[in-house]
Amino acid sequence: MKIICVGRNYAKHAKELKNEIPSEPVIFIKPDTALLPKKNPFFYPSFSKDVHYEVELVIKINKMGKKIQPQFAHKYYNEVSVGIDFTARDVQKQLKEKGLPWEKAKAFDSSAPVGSFVSLSKFKSIDNISFSLKLNGELKQEGNTSNMLFKVNELISYVSSFVTLKKGDLLFTGTPEGVGPVAINDHLEAFIEDEQLLSFNVK
Ligand code: MG
Repeated sequence: MKIICVGRNYAKHAKELKNEIPSEPVIFIKPDTALLPKKNPFFYPSFSKDVHYEVELVIKINKMGKKIQPQFAHKYYNEVSVGIDFTARDVQKQLKEKGLPWEKAKAFDSSAPVGSFVSLSKFKSIDNISFSLKLNGELKQEGNTSNMLFKVNELISYVSSFVTLKKGDLLFTGTPEGVGPVAINDHLEAFIEDEQLLSFNVK
């Protein structure tokens, strides 16, 4: 399986990192080794001194598809969760300055913890789901999919015009504002609405 991620999909987050608002989705991919096995801690990587959390709504693809039209995209998923797109911000800054790919900053081991999945039937619309992140019990990020620059069905259509989607692939849909650093001994919890779906420690 693969993990496809969308960057700069919330205007306020693009602004907080002084990035332009994109005119089309920014995408990148993490390997399956970026998943964090359940109950494992996240081990702070030795190559960075500035690892940031980015909470994101995560879509699980449930069948193979390519060149999916936006109006049919809803047929390709029925479960959602939340995940953390861990980013070595110091490494990313150096790569960005040189115009190099982001993989070292984004695709490292355990850089994509994902929570338990819940059925979409619980929600009225994929385009109005709120999610949040607490760090050591304190609310740090709050988002709602209604604020996405490119909505879930547009993203699936866009991504599948380049990359075939397969059953079990995950789509990280971008982070809202409020990103920040983690430290060893931090505790992270991520929620959809009031339900905690992901919880782990940083070691
Ligand atoms: Mg992200």
